[in-house]
Amino acid sequence: MKLYNIKENDQKVNFEEAVRTGLGRNQGLFFPADLPRFEDIDALLEMDLTTRSTEILSALIGDEIPKARLAEMVTAAFDFEAPVKPVTENISALELFHGPTLAFKDFGGRFMAQCLKQLSDGEKITILTATSGDTGAAVAHAFAGIDNINVVVMYPKGKISHLQEQLFCTLGGNIHTLAVEGTFDDCQAMVKHAFDQAELRKTVGLNSANSINISRLMAQICYYFEAVAQVPKDKRDELVISVPSGNFGNLTAGVLARAMGLPIKRFIAATNANDTVPRYLETGEWSPKATIPTISNAMDVSAPNNWPRIEELVRRNEFSWDDLSSDRATDEETAQMLKAMHAHGYVCEPHGAIAFGALEKSLQEGEHGLFLCTAHPAKFIESVEGILEIKLDLPKALADVAEKENLSDTIPAEFSHVEAKLRSL
Ligand SMILES: *Cc1c(COP(=O)(O)O)cnc(C)c1O
Repeated sequence: MKLYNIKENDQKVNFEEAVRTGLGRNQGLFFPADLPRFEDIDALLEMDLTTRSTEILSALIGDEIPKARLAEMVTAAFDFEAPVKPVTENISALELFHGPTLAFKDFGGRFMAQCLKQLSDGEKITILTATSGDTGAAVAHAFAGIDNINVVVMYPKGKISHLQEQLFCTLGGNIHTLAVEGTFDDCQAMVKHAFDQAELRKTVGLNSANSINISRLMAQICYYFEAVAQVPKDKRDELVISVPSGNFGNLTAGVLARAMGLPIKRFIAATNANDTVPRYLETGEWSPKATIPTISNAMDVSAPNNWPRIEELVRRNEFSWDDLSSDRATDEETAQMLKAMHAHGYVCEPHGAIAFGALEKSLQEGEHGLFLCTAHPAKFIESVEGILEIKLDLPKALADVAEKENLSDTIPAEFSHVEAKLRSL
């Protein structure tokens, strides 16, 4: 597989280097030089999830990982399902929360862990990642107990849900968690800053498991195919997919899937009040504001780091702005959507509800809508129970950690504290 740095095009790397280094020079994202295009999509859609995903990832990665080995990695990573469930007559939910940490981030986190295990040759690796709530848990669980790999997760203190926090701050061992007195964007900026320190980067073997890592995005491409495979054939040509968006990794993966031949008519990018992208699509002006805390906290991102990849797909004529619209919702609108969905007999959580709402407003006669349900409702139990006035059962994964001790260190949003932690491992 050949990839290049979007900012400095002369930096070219293979899959192994892209996965191991995460981010290119000058904080440039890596991007595939060529995308495979599947001609016989129907045949692909007939396959089961792991067989099909192996085909897709093998076409992308090429001979750097033998196909038989790749099949084992995919089987180990995607050991849970992604069902499509009807919500209304013309709208269905793609449930991506059946993995061990109950959010779609398990797909990317678990595949990335498989890739790093396969590609590293025993040297020390430190994974530094910022989380707005769900990446931390997915990455921490995927890497817990792996030799030679330390994981440092930063998150905005007090701005993620209690159960989100319990899922990754109670593991210990090679998993280290930092509660940062700041926003998710502060955390993300410190990850980028760490990558700019060449000596530090080398000394601690720095890697990032954020959605800037191409292996995560590649894993996510696979569930778009899984979704379309479950949509009845006569609706496939009129399919509109709504993506609850924060860092825009999820949407990027969908656009990549479409560029590889998957029939998706158009996309909707749905955000909360952190609406840098909707404002950009309306005005052409890129002007991130201060991050606003919302009940859909995993999307509290005002400087989405995957956006340059969408721009790159447009620049390469593999995507058109005509096929993307956007919408945003306030917390109040999110609550209304949750109630509307509940009236249809579907219990959702705030992120999925925002995507559902955007779809309801935008869907035209004859179109079929699919929205991504990115987390299990119980992960946002306080909001969901409060708004819907119902009681939710805690799934076992959450019940097991609810009362455990939180092992995080609290730090101010200053890089020196992060650096000290990294050097101490
Ligand atoms: C991370 C996350 C999102 C946002 O996904 P991006 O790929 O960052 O746009 C949406 N919902 C949930 C529940 C998440 O954890």
